[in-house]
Amino acid sequence: MAQSSTSNSNELVFLPLGGSGEIGMNLNCYGFGPPDARQWIVVDCGVTFGRETSTPGVDVIMPDARFLEEHRSDLLGIVLTHAHEDHHGAVAHLWPSLRCPVYATPFTARLLRGKLEEAGLDGRVKVKVVPLGGKLKLGPFEMEFITLTHSILEPNAIAIRTPLGMIVHTGDWKIDPDPLIGEATDDATLRALGDQGVLAMVCDSTNALIEGESGSEADVRTSLTKLIKELKGRVAVTCFASNIARLETVAHAARTAGREVVLVGRSMHKMVEAARETGYLKDFPQAVEEEEALHLPADNVLYLCTGSQGESRAALARIARDDHRHVKLGKGDTVVFSSRVIPGNELYIHEMQNKLAALGVAVLTDEDHFVHVSGHPARDELAQMYRWVRPQIAVPVHGEMRHMTAHARFAEELQVPQAVVVTNGDMLRLAPGRAEIIDEAPSGRVFLDGRLMVHEDEGYARARRSLGYAGFIGITLVLDTKGRVVADPVYHLEGIPEDLFEPVEGAVLRAINGKKRGDLEENVRIAARKAAHAIWGKKPIVRVETVEI
Ligand SMILES: [Zn+2]
Ligand SMILES: [Zn+2]
Repeated sequence: MAQSSTSNSNELVFLPLGGSGEIGMNLNCYGFGPPDARQWIVVDCGVTFGRETSTPGVDVIMPDARFLEEHRSDLLGIVLTHAHEDHHGAVAHLWPSLRCPVYATPFTARLLRGKLEEAGLDGRVKVKVVPLGGKLKLGPFEMEFITLTHSILEPNAIAIRTPLGMIVHTGDWKIDPDPLIGEATDDATLRALGDQGVLAMVCDSTNALIEGESGSEADVRTSLTKLIKELKGRVAVTCFASNIARLETVAHAARTAGREVVLVGRSMHKMVEAARETGYLKDFPQAVEEEEALHLPADNVLYLCTGSQGESRAALARIARDDHRHVKLGKGDTVVFSSRVIPGNELYIHEMQNKLAALGVAVLTDEDHFVHVSGHPARDELAQMYRWVRPQIAVPVHGEMRHMTAHARFAEELQVPQAVVVTNGDMLRLAPGRAEIIDEAPSGRVFLDGRLMVHEDEGYARARRSLGYAGFIGITLVLDTKGRVVADPVYHLEGIPEDLFEPVEGAVLRAINGKKRGDLEENVRIAARKAAHAIWGKKPIVRVETVEI
């Protein structure tokens, strides 16, 4: 029988559009079919967060989903592994241009619905709830949700069966033998998948550089309970609100120490409510209101606060600025950071800790006390996962380049036949044949700027970054019909030091009167920039306009 040509044969491809080569905003696409007629599913659709210094005025950053918009008619659905912002936070923003059903387990679906409601999309988006361990078929993709452990409720791996082989997409995970809430890792199913034969595993790289194991939530409970019992004065604990087991641990520690729990920060309330509504946190104490807590003795209060990463508008940053309406901390009080420093946030966190220290507050962190465990697999756990799943191909994702390359080398050491590092936009053919990158799709970051979405490379987003750095000079030249300058130029300056006014004016006049050939506007623009740079050492944005009279 004649073999059909490659271009008409089915292929199985993986295409990351976010999260591979950077931290955050995960967007993973799987395609099946002949190259000109592939069908697609998306696993996770997350955001990352901007900072005033690098992306002025931009809080939320998401992946460029142009490729999926172009293939919208062949997009079968978005499947979410879990409810962290870097995995589901972009659905409400990108859905209007993708318009496909979304699938998630109950807790993730509950949080997503809240977000869709805020975005005015409730009722329009079909959010279909998949039970834990449930199955789902979308076109050629037959999926099975596998319960893992992580730092949030209901983390799932997705086994994706296709006619060309099975992929295990791990999502975020660790192996926590005692996660406190929810099931332990479903290793029996992972082993069974391995027995059936797994073509590729697309796997979390976050802690691929860290030896050993990540540790258990149960051990944090023991340690934190002991620590808080010894503390005097007011105690505030900050952690990620989405780590429901940790919230329960803090409540347990509070109870043991005879303290009432006070939730501080919007997302603390939101998370506790979502967990309760989906059947978790049954024993969580009724939290005391912030105002009520003002009347309690200092030794009977425990504030559970948002803002462990130094986010300027979150509860803890306000408390540190002594700018919170109901929560005041001072000498003799303690703040416990039951969290880690996410790379990139060091400056903000340290600044906040310095402010707390200046108020006389003791600051305890995971550097000096055992108050936190990571939600991602260290190398012993990665090795265990590879022994269970035994894939033919390892595809590290969810990390910076250094994490992903270390993960790939480690997979090879573990005898995985092929390990391939791909970054956002690389289309990797997983089958048939050896895995290789066969194409490139547009990728990048899109900023949510106020209510508008703008690609990071678009002129005005770039201009805003430059403006923050060096300000703006506008110059209007008044010309006659022959193109001669007939009046003094008009200047419009924003954020420019006064020392520059005269030299820039002088340079502009020389450029106008000079014999330099070429475009007058461009000559003036360059002259103004050079003059500014000569004095300031920085080049402002310069725009030159002409008016003809
Ligand atoms: Zn993640
Ligand atoms: Zn996660």
